[in-house]
Amino acid sequence: MATATAVYKNFINGKWVDGQAGELQVLNPANQDEVLSRFSMVSTEQTHEALQAAQDAFQGWRRTSPPQRARIVRKALQLAEEREDQIARDMSLEAGKVLSDARGEVIKGCNLLEFYSGEGLRLIGDAAPSELGNNLLFTKREPLGAVSIITPWNFPWAIPCWKIAPALVAGNSVVFKPASFTPLSAYHLAKCFEDAGLPPGVLNLVVGSGRKVGNELIHADKVCGISFTGSNEVGKQIEQAAMETGKKLCCELGGKNPCVVMADADLDSALAGVLKGAFGASGQRCTATSRLIVEESIADEFAARVAEGANALKVGPGINDDVDMGPVIDQSQLDTVLGFIESGNKDGFKLLAGGERVTENGMDKGFFVRPTVFDHVDQNSYLAQEEVFGPVLSIIRAKNYEEAIEMSNNTKYGLSSSIYTRDINQAMKFSDDIEAGMVHINSPTLGGEAQVPFGGIKASGIGDREMAKEGLHFFTELKTVFLDYTGGARKSNIY
Ligand code: NAD
Repeated sequence: MATATAVYKNFINGKWVDGQAGELQVLNPANQDEVLSRFSMVSTEQTHEALQAAQDAFQGWRRTSPPQRARIVRKALQLAEEREDQIARDMSLEAGKVLSDARGEVIKGCNLLEFYSGEGLRLIGDAAPSELGNNLLFTKREPLGAVSIITPWNFPWAIPCWKIAPALVAGNSVVFKPASFTPLSAYHLAKCFEDAGLPPGVLNLVVGSGRKVGNELIHADKVCGISFTGSNEVGKQIEQAAMETGKKLCCELGGKNPCVVMADADLDSALAGVLKGAFGASGQRCTATSRLIVEESIADEFAARVAEGANALKVGPGINDDVDMGPVIDQSQLDTVLGFIESGNKDGFKLLAGGERVTENGMDKGFFVRPTVFDHVDQNSYLAQEEVFGPVLSIIRAKNYEEAIEMSNNTKYGLSSSIYTRDINQAMKFSDDIEAGMVHINSPTLGGEAQVPFGGIKASGIGDREMAKEGLHFFTELKTVFLDYTGGARKSNIY
């Protein structure tokens, strides 16, 4: 077994400190014989030290002017850009993603740092007319305090960027717990902020399990807000804890995103979008295309092309240049994906591509699954209703637009969606009718940009949207100020 020698530390109160709760070994999802990194994990006591450091640093940070806070974010951005290659390589290895996707993710995170560094100059309140003369009403935005940021492994750089940057620009202090599969990406981000000159305690990085460290971060009295991205199961527990302890909460959760392909669509473009949406990042994106809802009249032809495209994808370690799809993240995710494939087979759906683990050429040491396509899937089946989070696509056939939209909305989730059609009226109708936080027209279900809100409805999210101004506003409280400038002349006020 190849062993990484350095043991990475935790960042608490401006210092890199050894954790006291044992060591985490991060194994390569493409080859379990390889230890990619070793991290020392924090104890409960150290988690509280990190929270205390955040609380102590808060008053000084909130009094630092927003443009000055934003300048530090801008400096961190410059450093991230200089370190892009290393960050992308480490991320590709630990998350298993294809190197070009990892590079894209570094750039996306940098776009978010750039956007929020600009927002430091735009932390603007409103002024309102008053019922009274010589009276000014205005609002201002203030930070929450110490906040917990808990993130998943599938976007180990971009998601922390889109949470930490607005939290800091708004004047909050942060304790950040990354997923245990991808602590090196988190280390790189914390290091950029340290090297950018962030004062001690304003950002703390703690590595440890969700059950122990994460649990402290959602229950502790010192925490004023929680921003979480991850599974619905954990999101529900966090919602319960936040309600009981009165903390502000934002959760981005799972998805079961439909891509509708109408008979009039540009089928070459639709095919490329479906393959990217379903199998990019091995289907491990909250916005992955999980259901292809295709108009019956073109379904046989289009399903055959999707299967052919899936079969042509090259599976292998994401760090290799010629690979289209990397492994899934671990044994448990592999078992889950194979379980979904088994359920599709048991339900008698037509397997058009894949349907098995990949073990040739040493891939038995990793968690590789062949891109899998089932056709004639029942829209109410387990396969069509539950989030797979792996490279498995269900094709569901619809008679017409009306049936396609009904099928698209037949899910507890509402994150992303997409339609391929040349009919602009139909496309716009889809944007009205679809129950989802994001709608893509003639593009895959994937993606988002810093300057527009990201997030979902129904079971896909709790609380405010992320990214854009909305992502900044989550980390603030509005304060309303009533300013009487009569110099004491007003003796009564019925309002
Ligand atoms: P997960 O819920 O298992 O873990 C997410 C984070 O929560 C990790 O850091 C984990 O350590 C921590 N955690 C686990 N148990 C906890 C607990 N009891 N208390 C506090 N923290 C705890 O999710 P995952 O497997 O890392 O990520 C996959 C899921 O994330 C999928 O469902 C996917 O759809 C979702 N996701 C959503 C979005 C979005 O923006 N909507 C983006 C990416 C991923």
